[in-house]
Amino acid sequence: MSHPLALAVDFGGTKVEAALVDDRGTLMPGSRHRRPTGPTATSAELEAAVHEVVDAAYAAVPRGAALRGVGIGAAGPIDVEHARVSPLNVIAWRDFPLGASVAGRLRDVPVTLRVDGLCITLAEQWVGAGRGVDNLLGMVVSTGIGGGLVLGGRAVPSPTGNGGHIGHIEVGGFDDPCACGGSGCLEAVASGPRTVSWARSQGFTGETGEDLALAHAAGDPIAVAAVHRAGTAIGRAVASAANLLDLDVVAIGGGFSRVSPALFEHARAALAERSGFPFVARVRIVPSGLSDEGPLIGAAALVHRPELLI
Ligand SMILES: [Zn+2]
Repeated sequence: MSHPLALAVDFGGTKVEAALVDDRGTLMPGSRHRRPTGPTATSAELEAAVHEVVDAAYAAVPRGAALRGVGIGAAGPIDVEHARVSPLNVIAWRDFPLGASVAGRLRDVPVTLRVDGLCITLAEQWVGAGRGVDNLLGMVVSTGIGGGLVLGGRAVPSPTGNGGHIGHIEVGGFDDPCACGGSGCLEAVASGPRTVSWARSQGFTGETGEDLALAHAAGDPIAVAAVHRAGTAIGRAVASAANLLDLDVVAIGGGFSRVSPALFEHARAALAERSGFPFVARVRIVPSGLSDEGPLIGAAALVHRPELLI
């Protein structure tokens, strides 16, 4: 007997992907499709890219198989009530009705849209590093820093759908300006590009996170200092979140999270400084347990694990 399927969509600032995912969190081979998005694409080009991957994944549904629904994880901010998206780095879309646009391709299939940071967290809780954890913060440290929250075993209530956005928590000791209007936001301090930018301001000549990783591995003192700075900021932000929310686990993924294991060591050290509060210092900061399929698995969780959504 075949497992029921979800059609999962992950829409981000550089690409959109779709795939079929079963109720064990497994991608169906051959069903995954990808198209570029990007900051210069027009609204019509973006919508065509979404429709192409959705149609291609739908065409892979085996005859007689049950398609339970469509789950969409989208770069934020979103408007969860109307399934509209306004991704910060996708300028052509402001209040774009992505949910309705996808629903129009598939007759009589329910569509659920949430912010990508929450989807990642649901995936960690389902099949990743937060499996079975009731109080979990999922984080993506990459070009930006996103996140999502599961509290009490459920997605955190969020009237606009944007709760859990740890990237725009302001971190003590830093005042780097942020695109959101804040200063010292975690994303402005510890994202890949901003960490590289800080290193360059100190004399580093590399240009990418990969350059920084190689320099760190070779013991370059500026790269070591840059990873120390980013990791410390992450640990302080986690400590603030843990004070507010009483977390069990923080699972961190994303390309820049793999710059060096030292990033995690510095984050844990910053958290451990809160020794006066054992409930904060107890929080476990762990690497993501997901592959690059994580965002699609999380989008599928919106369909297969609706009990997690409030
Ligand atoms: Zn910000």
